[in-house]
Amino acid sequence: MLYSVVSLILFNLPLLGFVLRENGGFSVVFSVCAAYICTTNMVFVALSVFGLRVLRFLCALFSLLNALALYFVSTYHALLTKDMMGNVLNTNFNEASAFLGGHLWAYALLGLVVGAIFWVLPLKPSPFKSKAYFFLGSGLVFALWGATHTKQWLFFDRHAKAIGGLVAPYNYSINAARAALAHLKHTPLKRFGLVPLQAQGRVVVLVIGESARRANYGIYGYNKPTTPKLQELLNHHEILALKATSCATYTTAVLACILNAKSGYENLPLFLHRQGVKVVWLSLNDGPPPMDVDWSPPLLELHQWFRQAGLDPKIIDYDEALALALPHLLARYPKDNLLVILHLKGSHGPLYVDKVPKGFAPFKPICTHSELNMCQSAALINAYDNTIAYNDKVLGLLVQDLHHTPRQAVLLYMSDHGESLGEHGLYLHGTPYLIAPDFQKQVPFIVYINPAFQTSLQTKPIKSNYHQDVIFSSVLHAFGLQKSPAYNPHLDIFQ
Ligand SMILES: [Zn+2]
Repeated sequence: MLYSVVSLILFNLPLLGFVLRENGGFSVVFSVCAAYICTTNMVFVALSVFGLRVLRFLCALFSLLNALALYFVSTYHALLTKDMMGNVLNTNFNEASAFLGGHLWAYALLGLVVGAIFWVLPLKPSPFKSKAYFFLGSGLVFALWGATHTKQWLFFDRHAKAIGGLVAPYNYSINAARAALAHLKHTPLKRFGLVPLQAQGRVVVLVIGESARRANYGIYGYNKPTTPKLQELLNHHEILALKATSCATYTTAVLACILNAKSGYENLPLFLHRQGVKVVWLSLNDGPPPMDVDWSPPLLELHQWFRQAGLDPKIIDYDEALALALPHLLARYPKDNLLVILHLKGSHGPLYVDKVPKGFAPFKPICTHSELNMCQSAALINAYDNTIAYNDKVLGLLVQDLHHTPRQAVLLYMSDHGESLGEHGLYLHGTPYLIAPDFQKQVPFIVYINPAFQTSLQTKPIKSNYHQDVIFSSVLHAFGLQKSPAYNPHLDIFQ
């Protein structure tokens, strides 16, 4: 307990300062203190089963390391995240010695003094029973505090990475372990064998939505007309509106489910690129992850290309631009088999109003606040529904583009995960999967096959619910690659 408090006051001031700077307010600062003390109590009580000597040694060691970490955090404003600790572990002595200046010695001295105090401090061995009570007590306070302060979760969710990089000793110790583990696990991706590609000029547009929950789509029974375009297409039997459940509640994990057939193997874009399909990945999020495909422009290059294509500069930051650019993309690869992956901005929170052009607001009044719990529930839902309506417009444009091309084309749209809009006090997404509400897991899955392709490619809604792993083999089928070793007929919706 003493260690928790001392460590909090001496080594975690940058964390508390960060909370205040980010307008967390004193109530969040108080929560951070409570959470920190409870967790640290539990960790050190658990460590005390190895004996007082070990505990003393660890208190001293962590005091010294905390002091050094504090030096880097306060001098370089560095967050000791996994990537940063990976850099630290990979740094050679010459590079490291460049940091050994300034007031490092003062911090080291502070660490040594505090460490020495913990080392010589007379500690009485306490019976196992009282340790267990103390451990459970701290856990209980932590759980109760968390449960009664759900509104603050949003702050922690938004700043998780920064907080994880600031809170000593967990920032450097856990993140260093994560970095080391990632380094050990890093093996080159295995490749699938290649088969002859017979199809010509086919187009698959794979649209990966962002935080779009099925419950708010008109075509799936929502009580507001959020999807008029899709509804019209559905009425004419031009699209299929399937249901899918996401494999996780956060983007990176879901992208892995959608794009990988087998763990440890190359993903869909890398594989198809090697298969001879032209692969383009466009996204207005932070730009696509760097990968070896035909074209995955960083944000600036994409904006520039939009301008050259004559798109209205007012919309080049919105998903609509991706849809309007599709004809230019088809012209860029006129004869090739082409896979276009569009990772939409979609409905990513917390600022829903940011995902649609100014003035696009079929549903009003809207919440314009990023502190979602500050908004009226109805205004928050309106702001979210506007992103779904905008998504409807984007998908409508894409279908229109593909409808008019003489090339055989198919569009697959699936959201990565859903979103919470304040139900049970939850917002956004990323709740641990086991306890995540259905709103965060139930996603739309829409299929459109253009007239040129309908004679040779069909699908029926045979399942009431699909998993996200059906994308890989279905895309392979669309390119006629059923003989590929990467293909699995059980995961093919065109089978
Ligand atoms: Zn996402």
